Amino acid sequence: MGDKKIRQIAIYGKGGIGKSTTTQNLTAGLAEQGRHVMIVGCDPKADSTRLLLGGLAQKTVLDTLREKGQTFDIGNIVKVGFKNIRCVESGGPEPGVGCAGRGIITSIGLLERMGAYTEDLDYVFYDVLGDVVCGGFAMPIREGKAKEIYIVASGEMMSLYAANNISKGIQRYAVKGGVRLGGIICNSRNVDREAELLRAFAEALGTQLIHFIPRDNIVQHAEIRRKTVIEYKSDARQADEYRELAKEIEENKSFVIPKPLEQDDLEKILMDYGLYDNIEGNYAI
Ligand code: ADP
Ligand code: MG
Repeated sequence: MGDKKIRQIAIYGKGGIGKSTTTQNLTAGLAEQGRHVMIVGCDPKADSTRLLLGGLAQKTVLDTLREKGQTFDIGNIVKVGFKNIRCVESGGPEPGVGCAGRGIITSIGLLERMGAYTEDLDYVFYDVLGDVVCGGFAMPIREGKAKEIYIVASGEMMSLYAANNISKGIQRYAVKGGVRLGGIICNSRNVDREAELLRAFAEALGTQLIHFIPRDNIVQHAEIRRKTVIEYKSDARQADEYRELAKEIEENKSFVIPKPLEQDDLEKILMDYGLYDNIEGNYAI
C-alpha cells in the first residue's frame, strides 16, 4: 500500500527486431528477482507472451470480447506464466479490416475496468509493434499509460530508421505528457562495429545504449521449446545478458525527450561506422 508506483514501460521497435523475445527474457529476469510483472502484448501477432506461457495458450482480449461479449472474468484474459508473470494479448482485427491500434485501446481500458493493474505490481510492460504509422500504436504512450520507453534496434539500417521514427513519436507525446525515452536496447544482428554504431546513434538521439544483447542461437533452441532462455538454460551466458538488461532497466536513471535525427545525419552515422577500408577482409569504397 502507499505510494509505490507501478513502472509502466513500453518496448518499441521494428517488426521482427526481437521485442517480444527480449521483453519476455528480461521480465523473466525481473521475476526471478521477485518483481511482480504484467506483460500486455500490443501486436496483432499475439505472440508477446508465448515463451512465458509455454505456447500460444491465450485467447486475445479482442477474440474474447468477440466471443463472449462482456460476460467473462479477468482470468479469461490475464494468464499466469513463468514465475507468476501475468500475460495479456490484446490481439487485433481480422486481417485487412479495421485498425489494429484499436485493439490496444480497447484492451487497456478493459484491463483497467477489470482491476488488472493491482497495487502489488512493480512493472507493466507493453510490447508494441513500432513500424506502423497508426495512432493506435502510440496508445500506451499517448494516453500516458507508459511513461518510460525503450527501443529495440540493431545495426541494420531499417531498424535504425524505425527507431528514429519512433523517437519522433515519443518526442511529440513527451512535450504534452510525461513520456521519456530510457534508452536503446541493441539486439545484435552481428553487423560490423554494431555496438559502436548503436552507441553513436543513441548519443545523437540524446539517450544511451542501455544494453547490447548478443545474437545467440540458444534463443532459437529455447524458442522451439516455447521457453525463454532464462527458463530453458538458466546458467547460459545469454540468460545472464537478459538478467543484466533487467538490472540496467531497474537501476536506470536516464530518462530523456529524444532529439530525432534528420535523414542526412542518420545516414552520416551509418556511413561513419559502415564505410571503412582499414579492416582486413573489407572492401575499400
Ligand atoms: P518482434 O517481437 O520484434 O517482432 P521477436 O521477438 O518475435 O521480434 O523476434 C524475431 C525472431 O528473432 C525470433 O523468432 C527469435 O528467434 C529471433 N531472435 C530475437 N532475439 C535474438 C537473439 N538475441 N539471438 C538470436 N535470435 C534472436
Ligand atoms: Mg513481437
